[in-house]
Amino acid sequence: MHKVYLRFYEELKDFLPEEKRKKRFVHNYIDRTTVKDLIESLGVPHTEVDLILVNGNSVGFDYLINDGDDISVYPVFESLDISDFQHLRPKPLREPKFVADVHLGKLTRYLRVIGFDVLYKNDYKDDEIVQISLKERRAILTKDGKILKRNEVTHGYFIRTKDVEEQVIEVIKRFNLQTAIKEFTRCLECNTELIKIAKEKIDGNLPPKVNESHEEFYKCPGCGKIYWKGTHHQKMLSFVQRMKTMNSD
Ligand SMILES: [Zn+2]
Repeated sequence: MHKVYLRFYEELKDFLPEEKRKKRFVHNYIDRTTVKDLIESLGVPHTEVDLILVNGNSVGFDYLINDGDDISVYPVFESLDISDFQHLRPKPLREPKFVADVHLGKLTRYLRVIGFDVLYKNDYKDDEIVQISLKERRAILTKDGKILKRNEVTHGYFIRTKDVEEQVIEVIKRFNLQTAIKEFTRCLECNTELIKIAKEKIDGNLPPKVNESHEEFYKCPGCGKIYWKGTHHQKMLSFVQRMKTMNSD
């Protein structure tokens, strides 16, 4: 039997049982594995990891563990200055774009409210999500840790919380999106960017009350839906305001 010493830092604790959190622990093993397989066998998806130090030196995911190794694993955001070390995360995607798993319909709509590009279908298969992520360079948002452990996945984030506003905050913090918020610019139904449309160019009848009290309209070129600043908009305004003014440290 061989052993290594492991410590996972900061929010990586979310994936560990209580007794392995916030401390160094011993892990026994029989067969040598890569450090990636070791980390994932303990429940932490590789997409959550940005830096691995083995006996003080940074290593890649393909590093083969040795008896007695002292392994420290750091998440993507860690206040420690790690600029001298080899980061394992690929560079952040320049335009933040996402594909969400089937459990995240509500989060998808909320992210669209603040202008973020999120693809979603309630019947996506895991393979489809991975393919879309790779082909369109979209980060995967998921409540399913399994999908983030797949080798080919490069960008993804595991959603921790249940409350949708908390989930939005998680995504904003992880991908550093606060200054990129562009509220009410995207169709909540189909994700297409909205365009302004003159009232007289709207096909079909608007509800009479809306016709009387609104002059500003937007149309979705994707599905044709017309948007105006009605009650839904009012409801969402305070959410948007909270997202723009929250402390994102
Ligand atoms: Zn639409």
